[in-house]
Amino acid sequence: MSQETEEQYRSIFENAVEGIYQTTVDGRYLRVNPALARIYGYASPEDLISNLTDIEGQLYVDAGKREAFAALMRGQDVVQNFEARVYRRDGSVIWIVENARCVRDQAGAIRYYEGTVQDVTERKRNEEKIRLLATVFDSVADGTLIVTSGLRVQAANPAYENITGFGDEDILGRPLTLFAPGSHERGFIEDIWRTARDSGRWQGEITSLRRSGEPFAAALSVNSVRAPGGALEHYVLTLADISQRKYQEHQIRYQASFDRLTDLPNRWLVCERLEEAIARAQRSRTKVAVAFLDLNRFKQVNDTMGHHAGDELLKLVARRLRNCTRVTDTVGRLGGDEFLIVAPDAADRNAGARLAEKVLYSMSEPFGVFNQELFCGASIGLAFFPDDGDTADQLLRNADFAMYHAKRNPEQRCVFYDATMRESTSFTLGLESDLRRAIGSDEFVLHYQPKVDATDRRIVGAEALIRWVHPTRGLVSPAEFIPLAEETGLIWDIGAWTLREACRTLAAWDERKLPIGSVSVNLSPRQFQDPRLVSLVQTVVRETGIDPSRLELELTESAMIGDIEKAVGVLCALKDTGVRLSIDDFGTGYSSLAYLKRFPIDTLKIDRSFVRDIVQSATDPAIVGTIVNLANSLGFDTIAEGVETEAQLDVLLQQRCRRIQGFLISRPLDGRSFESFVREANVPA
Ligand code: C2E
Ligand code: MG
Ligand code: MG
Repeated sequence: MSQETEEQYRSIFENAVEGIYQTTVDGRYLRVNPALARIYGYASPEDLISNLTDIEGQLYVDAGKREAFAALMRGQDVVQNFEARVYRRDGSVIWIVENARCVRDQAGAIRYYEGTVQDVTERKRNEEKIRLLATVFDSVADGTLIVTSGLRVQAANPAYENITGFGDEDILGRPLTLFAPGSHERGFIEDIWRTARDSGRWQGEITSLRRSGEPFAAALSVNSVRAPGGALEHYVLTLADISQRKYQEHQIRYQASFDRLTDLPNRWLVCERLEEAIARAQRSRTKVAVAFLDLNRFKQVNDTMGHHAGDELLKLVARRLRNCTRVTDTVGRLGGDEFLIVAPDAADRNAGARLAEKVLYSMSEPFGVFNQELFCGASIGLAFFPDDGDTADQLLRNADFAMYHAKRNPEQRCVFYDATMRESTSFTLGLESDLRRAIGSDEFVLHYQPKVDATDRRIVGAEALIRWVHPTRGLVSPAEFIPLAEETGLIWDIGAWTLREACRTLAAWDERKLPIGSVSVNLSPRQFQDPRLVSLVQTVVRETGIDPSRLELELTESAMIGDIEKAVGVLCALKDTGVRLSIDDFGTGYSSLAYLKRFPIDTLKIDRSFVRDIVQSATDPAIVGTIVNLANSLGFDTIAEGVETEAQLDVLLQQRCRRIQGFLISRPLDGRSFESFVREANVPA
């Protein structure tokens, strides 16, 4: 080798970036260049040679590496791209790649190895990372796509295929189709790419597409990938199928806002709509009408015909309410048999009244439930924004209040809220606890109202009407506490007391020779449905020793709806005890006319409402006439209640109704007054 070439080789040896070495076969360094010292972490080649004296033991991390290296050398004289992990001087581990060859003497024996070393730790790490990423790419549950800056698909993971059904063969190299056609505005989609490009990331929900063409809700995130120079290279898209979650969200939101039975907005949603209506009305200075509606006989339907019938009725009511209101009105169900109607932009209070009228009218028609025609009826309380409150809560409460008044006052089916109501109502609120106490403590009395035969004004009987003498409130009307007693179940004890008291009184009158035909006692529907009723009647009759045919039980038609067979059974059992039975308030309730002939009853008591208008009305006299004819043909007596004037009596007599009860003859009287009344009336002329 010439001097010059020798120099050149030396220069390469000294300045190369690769490590260069010559080693003995048994693993000692003969020569190394500065690069190798640097790679292995030694201060200089000399430092390396004097300290790294056992390649097999000191350098290679993995046992057997040196032997593998030597075996290759023995076999083929060269080692190519031999990868190994080695210890640097400080103990840290790096990856190297060696290329080496054998240098032999003329006899063919190995003189030394000569080779180069590259530090490939960085590359190895990247490879590791890529392998890891690839595993992630393949195994995550989210669909992942890599697309070019020109939006062509470069890679897709298995999850993407699982979610969408699109395989590599469908999409690789093709333009990205991510969005279900027609489901997004063009601006929305453009915004996604713009945002991802400009700020590196976009996240949101889209409607994506499955291979089947089915759209589905997806959570998408788009990340842009830029080359070190800043040029946009790729987008990485991850796509999660959230259609199930969306569906559940929808379900939950629906369930949270709508009543499952009737599909009407529930309390929450109807209040929300009310608040919106208030906000709008505030701006436009209009009114909002709020109608609180409660069904009159829902409880009876439920109790007598069962929950299925009750549910059915509620559905029919809901449908009817929707039909008789405007599309801009909201009809909601608050729960039970309570409904709320919100009418925004009510021009004035009259508009609210008209709405209520329409609703009441539609409620007055019978409902067909399980092959029966049911009259349900409703009571409505009306409140207005801004007159009666300026929050949804206040309006609801006040409309409820007004409804409560309508309920307690059967003459008025619709009541407008008015602030003075508060006073009278706080009165009834504490009533329940008082009522419980009253049962034990002698606060009830019976008053008696005479029933007369109008042709000769002879007293034929008396109706016992309960009065509550409240220690602080004075006389409380049965119209006020009987419904409450029914709701709370206290009616049983109250009713038993009434029955006993009336029979005891009758026995006492007999003893005093007071000529009184019969005494009638009112039974509420709840009592009628109580299985203890028949034996109670028997017991009381026996205890008081009265002739049972002189006791009359007054029942309303509503007690008999539902299971007609059962009602007939109870009526017959009652009849068997020897008492007389009459139907009270006849004509107001159910269409049980068809069954009337099956009921073993004695008297139909024509409701006060027919009598009230009988003089002015064109139709009421005819109705009364029809009832009387019907009753006669079935062998029933009739009696008209609530007769206040001679004019009414005249019409009744024309219609052949002879028996009457009412203020015209007498108001209900306490026991002693009644006794004097009878004695005076019977003083022979
Ligand atoms: P009802 O059985 O229809 O009783 C007749 C009601 O009409 C009584 O009201 C009576 O005072 C009233 N009345 C009688 N004549 C006239 C009249 O000429 N004009 C007007 N405007 N009203 C008249 P009261 O005593 O307030 O009873 C109301 C309802 O309470 C009764 O209606 C009855 O359903 C119920 N009730 C009364 N006492 C009892 C009872 O002991 N048990 C049960 N379960 N209910 C009772
Ligand atoms: Mg009665
Ligand atoms: Mg009556």
